[in-house]
Amino acid sequence: MDSQLKIYNSLSREKEIFIPIQEGKIGMYVCGPTVYNDVHLGNCRTFVSFDIIYRYLLHKGYKIRYVRNITDVGHLLDDGEDRMSKGARIDQLEPMEVAQKYTNGFHHMMRIFNTLSPNIEPRATGHIPEQIEMVQSILDNGLAYIVAGSVYFNTLKFIEKYNSYGKLSGRIVEDLMVETRDDLKNQDEKRHPSDFAIWIKASDEHIMRWNSPWSVGFPGWHLECSAMSTKYLGETFDIHGGGNDLKFPHHENEVAQNMGACGHAPARYWLHTNMLLLNGKKMSKSDGNTISPQELFAGQSEHISKAYSPMIVKFFMLQAHYRSSLDITDEALIAAEINFKKFMEALKILDNLSLDLFNNADSAPKDKEVESIIQNIYSAMDDDFNVPLAISEMHQLISYINQSKNNAEFAKQISQASWLNLKECYNTFLIQIFGIAEESSESDQVVTDGLMNLIIELRKDVRERKDWSSSDKIRDSLKEIGIQLKDGKEGTEWGKI
Ligand code: AMP
Ligand code: ZN
Repeated sequence: MDSQLKIYNSLSREKEIFIPIQEGKIGMYVCGPTVYNDVHLGNCRTFVSFDIIYRYLLHKGYKIRYVRNITDVGHLLDDGEDRMSKGARIDQLEPMEVAQKYTNGFHHMMRIFNTLSPNIEPRATGHIPEQIEMVQSILDNGLAYIVAGSVYFNTLKFIEKYNSYGKLSGRIVEDLMVETRDDLKNQDEKRHPSDFAIWIKASDEHIMRWNSPWSVGFPGWHLECSAMSTKYLGETFDIHGGGNDLKFPHHENEVAQNMGACGHAPARYWLHTNMLLLNGKKMSKSDGNTISPQELFAGQSEHISKAYSPMIVKFFMLQAHYRSSLDITDEALIAAEINFKKFMEALKILDNLSLDLFNNADSAPKDKEVESIIQNIYSAMDDDFNVPLAISEMHQLISYINQSKNNAEFAKQISQASWLNLKECYNTFLIQIFGIAEESSESDQVVTDGLMNLIIELRKDVRERKDWSSSDKIRDSLKEIGIQLKDGKEGTEWGKI
């Protein structure tokens, strides 16, 4: 199927026909997680969305270099604290230990959601020399200035030269006056409120620090993505993605830095995913409005009535277009579970139905309808990756699958060739492109862990009430199914006998 792919470009605010710089090849950069905390479900939604985009582009035959970074330094909170150092103090670990711990957790979660690994996953701390070089180029081009060991990007000079700051985020300089996130502590060092730090002199208590020509310090958060995308994808590449909360200041400043260093913008197409909401509000680690994937898989949250497996949660995420927000509710998860089961059931039927049931003539009455549904699925995906529309078309395929199973007369109205096309389309989209899989043993493990923690908690309650017979019953019943509980000082642990 070679209908033309259209992508909504945040830069032009329009759907544009996608034309890669080099025919058949795509360079794609997606802003990865800040590894100072467990990945939350909102992050997962963004990475699942880009995974589907990546898989669809692969399916269309492009050769892709997909780069997704790990932010392990330089991401300041509103109070001016570095997110990594903060994580380190809370957990009493080395910053790199914190980064490794949460990077492992992130990878684990990405596997549970059955996403493909990027081709390159660069870390900010592994690219300090490249970032220092970029700061130097910006300084050499007269678009930054040094104050007391810190280096600031000169936004007014930049506007004078390129007349384009704020284009991506649609902000005007007056709005930019309120920009504070980067370096609240050093507001007085900036010549203009919209200037932002690209190198920050480390205060004595700051643990993450490197030598540079200007001071012992650390890079500004936006710099890593400019430096690493340039290093691995070149000065101009095809697609840059991230959540829409990164449009400003992160992506706007990335564009400014790249232009400031190399004279042109980094990416041709900017893709922004919309937020996952909880109770109608952005799910976010920093303000505590979050539900963890583990809580969802184990059913341990006040917001849900039961546990939902990772694939059901992923299927739920497919119900909204990546540019629309998606609100987690128990009802929506229940609906996703019902539909997920329908889709998996149809997959089994497809595997088991004999080809002999279908018409062995060259064509049959329902072939055109089947072919047009298949075409609609491709058209939906080519229209800015409209996954929910493709899913609704797949519901139509399911109706053909079920009717073919239940009604021999119906099956005879579809030719064997069309049936094979339907089967291939269904399998390709569900498994290869949407990455929906039978529940993996790894995700089963998450569910088991959640269930065991729940049982242990319940047993603790029972014991606190001195209800020894219930407590023994729980222990003995678990033993019967091969699980042993061990009570110790640190609490109760469990293991297989
Ligand atoms: P962070 O770890 O905060 O740097 O975020 C990693 C990625 O997840 C970025 O692309 C964010 O835009 C994205 N993200 C953060 N919160 C949400 C959310 N609630 N829904 C969807 N994506 C999010
Ligand atoms: Zn980034």
